[in-house]
Amino acid sequence: MQDCLFCKIVKREIPADIVFEDDQVLAFNDINPQAPTHVLIIPKRHIATLNDLEEADQTLVGRLPVVAAHLARERGFADDGYRVVMNCNDQGGQTVYHIHMHLMGGRRFTWPAG
Ligand code: AMP
Repeated sequence: MQDCLFCKIVKREIPADIVFEDDQVLAFNDINPQAPTHVLIIPKRHIATLNDLEEADQTLVGRLPVVAAHLARERGFADDGYRVVMNCNDQGGQTVYHIHMHLMGGRRFTWPAG
């Protein structure tokens, strides 16, 4: 997607602090962190919202929480706990229209989310 911010990060057209990459997924630090660890995990392929997912995307999207748990273990807060969030569309709080999983850790989270 030509004008997609996260596609530009995938293509290295704009900089990001990349913390994990494989052939399908990229993870980088959120520019406005809400926790000591705040990483965004995205599929490299452009998918605008959760509503655009197709049956064939299950394996790709399933990779996002697997990478989140890997990073949580790596950073030492897997056992203490952490929060993963995917926002969908305006009322869900989505601001970047390329699906992403927020991984936040290193502090206590409250519920319900705001
Ligand atoms: P959401 O509101 O769920 O769509 O989340 C979008 C996230 O992208 C926000 O937490 C932003 O802080 C983050 N963000 C926006 N631009 C960048 C960027 N250039 N690099 C890293 N994170 C970004």
